Formats: sequence, C-alpha cells, structure tokens
Amino acid sequence: MPESWLASVPGVREHEPLEPHSWYGIGGRARYFLELADDATLPALAARLNTDRQPYLVIGAATNTLFAAPELPGLTVKLVTRRLSIAEETVSVSAGYLMPKLAAETAKAGQAGLEFGAGVPGTVGGSVFGNAGAFGGEVKDRLRSVDAIDERGQRRTVSAAECRFGYRDSVFKAEHDRWVILSATFATNREPPAQVRARMLEVQKHRRATQPIEQRSLGSTFKNPPGDSAGRLIDAAGLKGMRIGGAQISPKHANFIVNLDGASADDVLALMAEMRNRVFERFGIELEPEVRVIGRTPSG
Ligand SMILES: Cc1cc2nc3c(=O)[nH]c(=O)nc-3n(C[C@H](O)[C@H](O)[C@H](O)COP(=O)(O)OP(=O)(O)OC[C@H]3O[C@@H](n4cnc5c(N)ncnc54)[C@H](O)[C@@H]3O)c2cc1C
Repeated sequence: MPESWLASVPGVREHEPLEPHSWYGIGGRARYFLELADDATLPALAARLNTDRQPYLVIGAATNTLFAAPELPGLTVKLVTRRLSIAEETVSVSAGYLMPKLAAETAKAGQAGLEFGAGVPGTVGGSVFGNAGAFGGEVKDRLRSVDAIDERGQRRTVSAAECRFGYRDSVFKAEHDRWVILSATFATNREPPAQVRARMLEVQKHRRATQPIEQRSLGSTFKNPPGDSAGRLIDAAGLKGMRIGGAQISPKHANFIVNLDGASADDVLALMAEMRNRVFERFGIELEPEVRVIGRTPSG
C-alpha cells in the first residue's frame, strides 16, 4: 500500500503504542499519532482528514476511553494544549487543559464555580464532550461557550444552549463526533480564594473516600439509570470484587473496573458484559456504558 500523506504531517508518529497515553494503561497502537501542544494547524488538518475520508480520533487524557482495537486506523490526535486566561467573571481554557489543574488555578485566583473539576481527572475537551460532573457540579452549570472546528475545518463558537447538554451527553457526543473542541469559556464568580479552595478540597476528600483512585480505572463504567445508581445495582447483583484476567470490579466502588495487573481490553469488556447481563437478569435494567470503547462494540 502506498504511504499515506499522514506520514508526512509534522510530528506524526507511526504505529504508536497507546498504553502510555491511556489512563487505564491499556491500548493497542495508533497507525498515525500526533500529540499537539499548539492547535493552530488543526483546522487545516481536520478539513483534509474529512475531505479524504480518513478516520480520526481526538483524545485528551484518555481517562474515559478504552482502546480496544489492535491498531486504530487513521490519525489519533492527543491534545495537550495548556492555555488558561482568567478574567473578571469568566475563564477561558484550552481543550487539553486538565480539569483538576483548572479547579486548582481558578481557586487560587478566587474564581468560584469549577471546584467539581478536582474530581474529574480528564481534560476540558473530554469533559465538554461528555458533560462531565462530580459531586454536585457539571460542565453544563458553568459553561458559556465552546470554540470548536467542524468537519470542514471551519471555526465555530457554540453557545451553551447549542451544546444541548444532558446527563453525560452533549451535541458533540450525540451529533458532531468529528468536530474538534478547541477551548471553552466558563462563567465564574469572585470569592475569597480560601473559601473556593476549601470546597475543592472537600471534592478531593469525598473522591478519595468513595473511589479507588489509587488504582487505574476509567471512573464510572456505566451511566446511572434514571432514579437509581449503577454501582448499587452491580453491587446488589453480587459482582463486587469479581475478577477476569487482570481486571476487577472494584471492591470499593462497584461501578469502577480497575486494572489490577496487566489487564487487557478483552478482560475489561468481559467484565462489562457480565455486569450488564447480571444486572439485566436480576433487575430488568439495561446499563448503558459511560466509558467510550474505541474499536469494538461492548456486548452483554
Ligand atoms: C478515577 C476516575 C474518576 C472519574 N470520575 C469522574 C466523575 O466523577 N465524573 C465524570 O464525569 N467523569 C469521571 N471520570 C471520567 C473522565 O475523567 C471524564 O469523562 C473526563 O471528562 C474525560 O476527559 P479525557 O480528557 O480523559 O477524555 P478522553 O477519555 O480522552 O476522551 C473522551 C471522549 O471525548 C472525546 N474528546 C476528548 N477531547 C476532545 C476534543 N478536544 N474534541 C472533541 N472530542 C474530544 C474523545 O474522542 C472521547 O470520545 C473519571 C475517570 C477516572 C479515571
């Protein structure tokens, strides 16, 4: 096969192992891989990828993504853009910025409203995509607008209403999964830094108490069904602590699958199927994955 033009994009690496880029420590490879600290070239790149009908995937910290293919086709772009600008009552931040750092920096500046970010280990881009939320706060509560590029490589400013946020859902996830989120602007309000920081520390404390954060996971595996909690259902189905290969349903939080020891994507998918099947058999409820499985469709 002739070499793709992707091989000559500056900075592109070929057959990149994804494990080091995966929070889970699980991954096959990416045929072409590009890590970008500067997104200036992205509009032209996105336009060409779409004209050429190349598959591509944009990731942040991969704290919600299971790489389940031996090799992802096309281009995988990892965004590590780290711009932050704090104004009087708004904060603009690039997609590659980490949510816990956003929470810490805004607390330091006495800007309240983003403390929940301390409980979400991923990036701003991934968090807008999935309307991440923790301990009472969600992206949608504070988001004003998003700058993104569409499949033609055009820059768009998307208002909060146009983002159509729902529970772990947004227009980007539901309709525009070939768009790239470049940055987000959030509304904040001024408060003494010590007060904001105290709330942020509460989020961290609660997280440490309830989640197995010392182990590798992707956070909540399934969304909570209406009026119930996926963790409670999985626990009640007797699955806490179940192990397949190197993966285990956390004894601390039944909706977390941890990578105990060299887990493979197959191990995690087998546990996910078991969780869905057993909860359905016992309660007649179909659990819907919250994690993004790339390269395979979860069964069960
Ligand atoms: C220990 C632990 C605890 C967690 N707790 C929570 C929690 O309390 N609440 C919660 O909501 N989540 C939680 N998560 C899940 C995860 O941190 C969030 O979903 C986070 O927002 C994902 O960000 P990311 O950068 O890691 O996204 P990734 O996993 O890299 O990507 C997720 C999805 O977003 C897309 N995406 C990423 N960046 C962009 C971009 N710039 N443009 C377009 N699409 C993009 C990807 O294609 C992918 O489909 C937890 C995870 C872990 C490991």
